[in-house]
Amino acid sequence: MSGDRLEIDDISVQFEGIVALDHVSFALEPGQICGLIGPNGAGKTTLVNVITGFQRPTTGRIRLGSRDLTAARPELRSHLGIARTFQAVRLFRGFTVRENLTAYALGAEKKSAAAKDRAEAVLDWTRLSAVADRRADTLPYGVERRVGIARALAGDPRFLLLDEPAAGLNEEECDDLIHLIQEIPKHFGCAVLLIEHNMRVVMNVCDRICVIDFGKKIAEAAPHVIMKDPVVRNAYLGEEAL
Ligand code: ATP
Repeated sequence: MSGDRLEIDDISVQFEGIVALDHVSFALEPGQICGLIGPNGAGKTTLVNVITGFQRPTTGRIRLGSRDLTAARPELRSHLGIARTFQAVRLFRGFTVRENLTAYALGAEKKSAAAKDRAEAVLDWTRLSAVADRRADTLPYGVERRVGIARALAGDPRFLLLDEPAAGLNEEECDDLIHLIQEIPKHFGCAVLLIEHNMRVVMNVCDRICVIDFGKKIAEAAPHVIMKDPVVRNAYLGEEAL
């Protein structure tokens, strides 16, 4: 089970005439960091919603190993280890940082003592112990975003979908984020799907990158290949990428 891949197979989504996704296929391999990039409106968030079960696809299947999750409710997918973070972080604002993590850890550990231990270990690993007792709504922006990732990790995901984690971060915070994301598969054994516009972050952490444009997959390859791909440069990266 833990070696299963998450398969996005021929996914299309139509919104009353708008084709948001057009027969997109790729797989998220265990332990891998895969980037999902493309211009605004390309369909990235729609694909995350399909994977997490909040958007029903018009065509295609989502599979975890041999299990078909296409019709599965978001709660089951979450229970099976598919987790996401949000562009707007959505912490429990009146809770402390520790309580935010413990709430998610309780989904992974049946006993509350084990959940507390897990939350503490993730706080330590993400270097958030110093702010553990602060209320979420008093945190600086960059710290709040880090807590969003830590909270998702507290839930013990097998597939972590990060939705624009670098948005609004300064250069130093981006360096920290690069280091954090690079270490997630090694430390937690989970795969990461990274949706991100910051190409420095994407190029530094991804094993593989999938590019979508107008709902269609236009490329999938290693970062150094994507950087030089004329189709990708034309659609998204521009000449400055070189
Ligand atoms: P961004 O980088 O700006 O977040 P994106 O790649 O995540 O963009 P999506 O938000 O998935 O793109 O949108 C893909 C297309 O589907 C866009 O044309 C968008 O306007 C449209 N769309 C998304 N959600 C809906 C909806 N609920 N109803 C109608 N159209 C939608």
